[in-house]
Amino acid sequence: MSEFDLVVIGGGSGGVRAARIAASHGARVALVEEYRLGGTCVIRGCVPKKLMVYASRFAQEFDEAAGYGWTLGERHFDWAALKTRRDAEVTRLEGIYRNNLLGSGVQIFAGRAQLQDRNTVVLTDGTQLRGSHILIATGATPTGAIGIKGHELSIDSNGFFELQALPKRVVVQGAGYIALELACVLQRLGASVHVVVRGDAILRGFDDGVRAHLAHELVESGLTFHFGRSIRAISQAGSSLQVALDNGGAITTDCVLRATGRKPNTQDLGLEALGITLDSHGAIPVDAFSQTSIPNIHAVGDVTNRVNLTPMAIREGHAFADTVFGGTPRSVDHRLVPTAVFTTPELGVVGLTEQAALQQYPRLDVYQSTFRPLKATLSGHTGKVLLKLLVDRDTDRVLGFHGVGPDTGEMAQLVGVALQLQATKSALDATLAVHPTAAEELVTMRKPTVQHAL
Ligand code: FAD
Ligand code: NDP
Repeated sequence: MSEFDLVVIGGGSGGVRAARIAASHGARVALVEEYRLGGTCVIRGCVPKKLMVYASRFAQEFDEAAGYGWTLGERHFDWAALKTRRDAEVTRLEGIYRNNLLGSGVQIFAGRAQLQDRNTVVLTDGTQLRGSHILIATGATPTGAIGIKGHELSIDSNGFFELQALPKRVVVQGAGYIALELACVLQRLGASVHVVVRGDAILRGFDDGVRAHLAHELVESGLTFHFGRSIRAISQAGSSLQVALDNGGAITTDCVLRATGRKPNTQDLGLEALGITLDSHGAIPVDAFSQTSIPNIHAVGDVTNRVNLTPMAIREGHAFADTVFGGTPRSVDHRLVPTAVFTTPELGVVGLTEQAALQQYPRLDVYQSTFRPLKATLSGHTGKVLLKLLVDRDTDRVLGFHGVGPDTGEMAQLVGVALQLQATKSALDATLAVHPTAAEELVTMRKPTVQHAL
């Protein structure tokens, strides 16, 4: 049996960072991965998704170019060519992950891992790895389609990345990050897309005003929403699929994409036998230092279902390694999380929503600007940008930023720095604008559009 200071289960964002940092602190580290190094983000998440988003945005650029004097030739989009290039890039990145791990001195093992006892990890081929510490970084996987007859005819986000051709007609189930991002990609590449939403709005948990604005923009750009509807059954109808809705309606389509959330990868890890009780979502409960109820077993990333984003998994993995092997206890702040939904137009966010802010800061000022971007004046594009700031009137602190429009994800990153520094509205006002940009609105909004509790 091989002996290590740390055995990491899962070679995704959190596991790889933890392994490399622990090794840099001098630990002997093994990492076990059952599929491909890089995990969800690199192999079938953020990176290939964003490449598809880039691909999908050219169509509008081509349309807008005419207003700027361009005459373009005949357009042709080749899904297979894009897939080949995208997959090659993913493979290149996977190689970099492997080399970085090996370069850090981490030993990589291929296979599915299970915990035999508090210190022993067993692989599918019987290999046993003994670790003084164990880190579970096994991520999450798309939830199934319980209750949908014929669900085996549908795909999830993993299946999306396997598609060999662009389906002409798609039904998407769900209204979260994945459903909307992939719906936009497919629609902008040329598919006719229907989105079936069980609730009455998209993106639960985001700012209500922003949800409504984005939904309007998505409808304007060609998505068809079916709110308050569920899929009852999917059946084959010749070469097409028939989607039966709960109101008796039906949609004929070529592809059904389910994006109804993800569940932590905790099945068959052997956790319960060790006395680790999973929460109601099947996630591993941990403390602020990512420690489970067993002191030498830690867990980071999506498997803990805290904030299921790559930068958070990386941050948690790094903090774990510094805490346990670097002699510097570090917990991770899960409160201020910049994030973007890469729909087109995209949504960039950091800080509190208006609804959440009002719970703690009733004297809330809302600064909102909705405008047609300069580029649209000549291109004729009708979409409107929305930028919104939330400010506590008593302290002048900026509590939240919400934006819908081009590059608002980039804006969220930088506004995130300002919020981390506890920026006040006066500080934004004192900042000189970069002209002409859309982001300059953030430093030129003088009067609140809404003043709560005044
Ligand atoms: P993962 O990256 O999922 O890694 C877990 C690894 O463990 C996997 O490689 C898996 O094969 C392996 N594993 C599981 N069980 C075992 C076992 N028993 N033995 C051995 N290996 C095992 N986040 C963003 O921040 N931005 C985005 O734009 C974004 N886009 C996304 C798009 C999609 C379609 C999806 C699905 C997710 C997206 N995410 C995005 C979320 C992001 O991918 C995850 O939050 C992140 O990958 C979590 O990292 P992790 O290390 O916890 O898990
Ligand atoms: P989300 O939790 O974001 O969205 C799930 C959606 O599915 C919601 O609209 C939810 O509706 C709906 N839903 C859930 N269960 C059912 C059901 N039984 N029937 C019908 N609809 C249902 O999950 P995703 O799968 O989209 O993404 C998982 C996570 O991955 C995200 O939350 C995010 O953390 C991460 N991610 C991040 C991205 C980014 O940073 N850009 C991109 C992609 C993923 P309701 O609101 O009613 O519950």
